[in-house]
Amino acid sequence: MNIVILGPQGSGKGTQAEKMAAKFKLEHIDMGKFLREVAKMDTPLGKEVWQIQNVTKTLVPKRILEEIFTIKLNDISREKGIVFDGFPRNMDQTEYFEHAMREFGRETDAVVYIKLSKEESVKRISKRWVCEKCKSVWIMGKDVKSEEDKCLDCGGKITQRTDDTPEGIEKRLKVFEKETLPVVAYYENKGKIIEIDGAQTIEKVFEDILSNLGVYDS
Ligand SMILES: [Zn+2]
Repeated sequence: MNIVILGPQGSGKGTQAEKMAAKFKLEHIDMGKFLREVAKMDTPLGKEVWQIQNVTKTLVPKRILEEIFTIKLNDISREKGIVFDGFPRNMDQTEYFEHAMREFGRETDAVVYIKLSKEESVKRISKRWVCEKCKSVWIMGKDVKSEEDKCLDCGGKITQRTDDTPEGIEKRLKVFEKETLPVVAYYENKGKIIEIDGAQTIEKVFEDILSNLGVYDS
């Protein structure tokens, strides 16, 4: 089984991808995370990615993403299914994603689109506070009560990432609408989209995904 999970910030797609991976013993591919791993490698490619992420601070070019994606697919045993977390996120990526999948004898079985309103996305993300030291995420009003509170894990100072302010979220949501919704439409045309209401609890969202895939949690 090869599944793609897409959704705006705050939709919980990462959590659902983890749950899918655990339940069906799938490889979980988070390209952002994999890129950060590659950047630490002592190889020409690793050095190039590190340079882009830390010095020029531009988007990683398509050529590199393609190369990295192929490396990743090549590393995974052919018998093992994959859950792709937030990837492919634009039409450019979709093109080489599908091309590479075919080359490795894989097919995209379904694309789960976790839908969430803009209001709900903003509401969820703007509650996110991050520890400056250990990067743990804490929910304001639940885990922590004020900005003066310290990280529950290490006692570090907590702050809000500029990306997680209402303005930052709006900006990212616009990018999602412009770049990722066409990917949703593309798979919709192929009859592969499973649309899920992301405003529900994590458990209910997972249940809905399973029943739409035709499997039931027992
Ligand atoms: Zn901490």
